[in-house]
Amino acid sequence: MKIENPKGTRDFTPTVMRDREYVEKTMSNVLEGFNFEKISTPIFEYSELFELKSGEDIKNRMYTFDDKGGRKLCLRPELTASVARMFSNELRNLPKPLRLYYFGPMFRYEEPQKGRYREFYQLGVELLGVSGVFSDALAIYAACECLKRLGLEFELQINSLGVVRGLLEELGVDDKVSGKLITLLDEGKREGVKEVLDDEIFERLIKISGGKKSLGEAEKVLKGFDKALAALSELRDLAILLDSAGIAYTIDFGIVRGLDYYTGTVFEIRVSGLGAQNQICGGGRYDNLIEVFGGPKTPAVGFAFGFDRVCEALILQSKLKPPEKKVVVVASVSGKSDGYAIKVAGELVRNLSESEFIVDLDVSGRKLKKTLEQASNMGSGWVVIVWEKEEKEKMITLRDMEKNSQKTVT
Ligand code: AMP
Repeated sequence: MKIENPKGTRDFTPTVMRDREYVEKTMSNVLEGFNFEKISTPIFEYSELFELKSGEDIKNRMYTFDDKGGRKLCLRPELTASVARMFSNELRNLPKPLRLYYFGPMFRYEEPQKGRYREFYQLGVELLGVSGVFSDALAIYAACECLKRLGLEFELQINSLGVVRGLLEELGVDDKVSGKLITLLDEGKREGVKEVLDDEIFERLIKISGGKKSLGEAEKVLKGFDKALAALSELRDLAILLDSAGIAYTIDFGIVRGLDYYTGTVFEIRVSGLGAQNQICGGGRYDNLIEVFGGPKTPAVGFAFGFDRVCEALILQSKLKPPEKKVVVVASVSGKSDGYAIKVAGELVRNLSESEFIVDLDVSGRKLKKTLEQASNMGSGWVVIVWEKEEKEKMITLRDMEKNSQKTVT
């Protein structure tokens, strides 16, 4: 009987996992270099956790179920809410700011297509307990640095939800309508905006995009809307910081994030050529979320990479090149030397663990000649040949596959 994996999920073969591990490690190294520390939270949570603040869009796509005790649970659709919960329950008294990152699978009931899965992976960062654009800039810088370290070419777009929300508030638009507009914008359905809110100023604002001069354009459009202008001034400060830090960006006032909890700076990273699912990273500032989970008022900023899309973008740009491992094959000459061969292989693994070498102990029982052929096919440079008679002297025979020569060594 052949059973397929569920729709929207994937199996990862060793070759694919090697690539994915390399991408994960490269990004984690950058984040740990910036003193972000890794955390992990449950794969399933009480549904309530995400119903509180993650937004309608996420809520409609959740995998929910009742457990045997009648508890309402779900597979996690994202992790910021879990991190906010963890912070409120366990980390609130630690010195701030707290720098956290995570990696793992998320689940959303979506129509699967390239770059969109029901089980997908996110690598995300949360910087908790600090407000202001300096920390926004660090989050954005760290995200860009992860991608640069991988050699990926990408485009960064920034905006402030404070500008968009500020204007809507000053126009007297109620929260429900604002939420609808933000969802439409996030889904890229700009043509639907006019049907919900027929306002010329709002229409003009969300069309502005480009370099720093778009700040001036927005300033003209927003004349008299003080709340929006105050947020715009923060966005200008962020732009200045990114300039000094050497980060290229586009400002786009139509960039909003679908998740309900964002409050200020928002940003997205895209890679051209990926088709409809070209957004590989999204994030922003969420200053009110921790309180929702009973924590103290704690400003925060974070982002999540769509890890699968980062890998797909790297393949697209031919940049997915994990370093090759060098294989040392260990060959046992006869059944009588097998025990010694395991010991030698173990010793090698212990001593080579920090290097680029890996150890392949041939346990097939095939003839030495065949093992050497196999080693040559694997591109192995060295074969350690283990004879029963050499065990007492703690010797091995080391064969240099390139030179086709061998010698006995301790
Ligand atoms: P979000 O949590 O919705 O802000 O998404 C953050 C990032 O996760 C997005 O920019 C995407 O790259 C990625 N992502 C979201 N949903 C999916 C999905 N269904 N499949 C693959 N990647 C996704």
